[in-house]
Amino acid sequence: MAPRKLAAGNWKMNGTLTSLAEIDRLLADHPAPGCDVLICPPATLVQAMAAKGIATGGQDCHAKASGAHTGDIAAAQLRDAGASHVILGHSERRTDHAETDAQVAAKAVAGHEAGLVAVICVGETEAQRDAGETLDVISAQLAGSVPDCATAANTVIAYEPVWAIGTGRTPTSGQIAEVHALMRDRLSARFADGADFALLYGGSVKPGNAAEIFAIPHVNGALVGGASLKAADFGPIIVAL
Ligand code: PGA
Repeated sequence: MAPRKLAAGNWKMNGTLTSLAEIDRLLADHPAPGCDVLICPPATLVQAMAAKGIATGGQDCHAKASGAHTGDIAAAQLRDAGASHVILGHSERRTDHAETDAQVAAKAVAGHEAGLVAVICVGETEAQRDAGETLDVISAQLAGSVPDCATAANTVIAYEPVWAIGTGRTPTSGQIAEVHALMRDRLSARFADGADFALLYGGSVKPGNAAEIFAIPHVNGALVGGASLKAADFGPIIVAL
């Protein structure tokens, strides 16, 4: 079974209730997209987003099911608000909150236990790429961040080079192809259904480069930041997929 195509929007710390009008525009313009569409808004908008009938994800969850963790959100709470997915291990979480691979894996287990699909992010820094360490870094992040209970049904992997996020810079098609082929190999070696995991590319995906990126082998979709905030930008990306 070929992996399902997924266009995922990561709104990060952007958006208020009025921003939901962009989703109305997106759904009006693309009532039957040829791929799965997911929006991961800030936690404050998860419930209202899900109520629009669009697949909705959180941007993080706690590894524990409940308890004294002020400011954190449990996976079951995201699920209760209508989420079906949760982004985990985004490089901004790894940098801003010093999240480790082990913590990301623990959060993924919590997400799975709550019935959420974990969208686990990996990616090298520019210094790591310049040092020729990219494939080792991605291998180590996959080994450490993806839990043993992962399956193609409950886990999506997003390759997001840190240096490509929000910068307008993207790797070459060859560089993306190399990493996606490595990820497919690693997942297939470890999981019986490793060939079926959806593999997303993320980092400065725009209407102008989406088609070229989606043509790369083992790229099954995109995790889109800035260009997911406006229907006029995200719509053409969905169409390209
Ligand atoms: P960007 O962000 O599309 O704005 O580069 C992607 C991401 O961080 O998921």
